[in-house]
Amino acid sequence: MSKCINCNKNEGSYEYSEGGYVCDECVKEYFVCPRCGKAFPKESGDAGNGFCEECSKEL
Ligand SMILES: [Zn+2]
Ligand SMILES: [Zn+2]
Repeated sequence: MSKCINCNKNEGSYEYSEGGYVCDECVKEYFVCPRCGKAFPKESGDAGNGFCEECSKEL
């Protein structure tokens, strides 16, 4: 596993949309898509229906 890209301290457990991983602590500052389980920036991650843009296309 690789280190969290946000704190660079804990092991990352969520895949980040821009590459790398985010840990359980820092993921609170991100939007996590319930379908693909990836972490996204909070401002742009939610496509408006609770899913990321990528998953919204397939809904
Ligand atoms: Zn972290
Ligand atoms: Zn998704």
